[in-house]
Amino acid sequence: MSNIANKGLLLIISSPSGAGKTTICKKLIDEVDEIDLSVSVTTRKKRKDEIEGKHYFFKNEDEFRLLLRKNQFLEYANVFGCLYGTLKKEVVSKINKGIDVIVDIDWQGTRQIVNQLPKDVVKIFILPPSMKELESRLGKRASENKENFKKRMSEAKKEISHYTEYDFVIVNDDLQLAVDQIKLILFSERLRRYRQLNLNKMIEKLI
Ligand code: 5GP
Repeated sequence: MSNIANKGLLLIISSPSGAGKTTICKKLIDEVDEIDLSVSVTTRKKRKDEIEGKHYFFKNEDEFRLLLRKNQFLEYANVFGCLYGTLKKEVVSKINKGIDVIVDIDWQGTRQIVNQLPKDVVKIFILPPSMKELESRLGKRASENKENFKKRMSEAKKEISHYTEYDFVIVNDDLQLAVDQIKLILFSERLRRYRQLNLNKMIEKLI
């Protein structure tokens, strides 16, 4: 019999760029046990404050496409003209060991993961409190040039239009409240019957 009490789940968190998703994910990692953050591969240029292997694995397009040919991705998508992908190794073995994994991806990647692992995903969409707030958060990213900023603002509206594909929607007005709400979802989802692997044995003893 497996000693693992629970199968891990994939907590998919999507939002328009600048809604505070990265900060939320970081807080979740700090505040919750047995949860890990999947580090994606991207062809986007590294921002000043980003660390290779922590925020992303930064690759050029040839390197990305090589990983793709080697079937290393669980999903991938073109977001704002750059490629982003979730590595299978960042996710699959972890959930099989009972560790939950947060994946910060867009709606295109979410659809692909849902197709592959329908019972393992919990999909949360984060909204900014207003477009004005989103503008101000994106504007503060010094590394974004003006053209990029405009592109991201228009993409934000497109991303938001996919909110109906998610199980839960959270408005990130108050950071700690948003984090606490996600924790509630996570702790409830961990209790789903089919995720409790040792339940049959326990029930056998009970009845
Ligand atoms: P950023 O460049 O601001 O870090 O991320 C831009 C967008 O790409 C965000 O919406 C983020 O969720 C998405 N993203 C980051 N990593 C991945 C990934 O591995 N796959 C997909 N499909 N989207 C990703």
